[in-house]
Amino acid sequence: MPKPELLIDTLKDQHILPHDDFKKLLNSLYDPTVMEYLISQSDEIRRKYYGNKVYIRGLIEFSNYCKNDCFYCGIRKSNLNVSRYRLSKEDILECCNHGYELGFRTFVLQSGEDRFFSTEVMTDIISSIKNSFPDCAITISSGENTYEHYLALFNAGANRYLLRHETANAAHYSQLHPPSMSWKNRINCLNNLKKIGFQTGTGFMVGSPFQTMDTIAEDLLFIYNFQPQMVGIGPFIPHHDTIFADMPHGSVNLTIALLAMIRLIIPNILLPATTALGTIAAKAREAGIFAGANVIMPNLSPINVRKKYLIYDNKIATGEETAESLSKLRESLDKIGFEIVVAKGDIIPIF
Ligand code: SAH
Repeated sequence: MPKPELLIDTLKDQHILPHDDFKKLLNSLYDPTVMEYLISQSDEIRRKYYGNKVYIRGLIEFSNYCKNDCFYCGIRKSNLNVSRYRLSKEDILECCNHGYELGFRTFVLQSGEDRFFSTEVMTDIISSIKNSFPDCAITISSGENTYEHYLALFNAGANRYLLRHETANAAHYSQLHPPSMSWKNRINCLNNLKKIGFQTGTGFMVGSPFQTMDTIAEDLLFIYNFQPQMVGIGPFIPHHDTIFADMPHGSVNLTIALLAMIRLIIPNILLPATTALGTIAAKAREAGIFAGANVIMPNLSPINVRKKYLIYDNKIATGEETAESLSKLRESLDKIGFEIVVAKGDIIPIF
């Protein structure tokens, strides 16, 4: 059997491993020397492309209404305990204004699947942001929609779209979602986004219920084949009002290792150390940055709605992850040798 270090070398060289070798590597991460080697290799590649620079994105959670009922998600439609809200165009522009002053040059508009935000409403919001902040990138993360809808958003000025594939295994997908949702449609949406020309982001939860090393290996192969510009991964964290309330949360270590592996799979990837990672353990986001992540998405939503966009329990909504505490985040990254930059933060071409 090849030593795990050799598998890491192959991954760094070839950017891909056969399914079984991915599994072997995943199963050897309990060994701290393997973890250390993996992280050192990922760090080398991240530095080659991005140096010690960390990009920031201002996250605006503009609606927690959702027509879907994903089993893991706290804002699923059947959770009647959620106090639902929608931000107006003016509210959203105000968030951008505030964010711009703080140094954000990318705004990420995220929501549940809320059909109030029709193609017309969204294109109006996007073109208003584009007019007011022509030097900024706009990212949308509002779930599945039609080709025509995505195309209209792109033509209105949206540059990027985040839609996690959630799992590359169709049977696993159906264990996480109601029958009204399908893996095929999710993947079709991702293909459409890419075809339209969005910088496209995908990803999955680490430790989601019924996930196995096999499905993770499939996720990694999916990411290699899809070649997204961004990958968002974070630990699954149970929400008390969902059917997965009593399921265990995902592992920090495995999340960190997967960040490093994804950096080796797509060397120039834009890779956030996510809020979920920051929620689960103190300093885990810094560990994510160490392991090869190069993006952080502080919350720019109005303070009075932050606690209402609760997709999982104890989501951090105060402290260093908030936009206001950017200077603190800057300091804590500075301490570990990383630098937050004021930049749109597009993907750097592969070389
Ligand atoms: N409606 C949008 C945005 C969903 S929220 C969409 O469908 O893309 C963004 C991501 O949060 C989801 O894709 C999911 O991977 C993650 N998420 C949802 N519930 C979670 C939980 N309980 N723990 C960790 N991550 C979760």
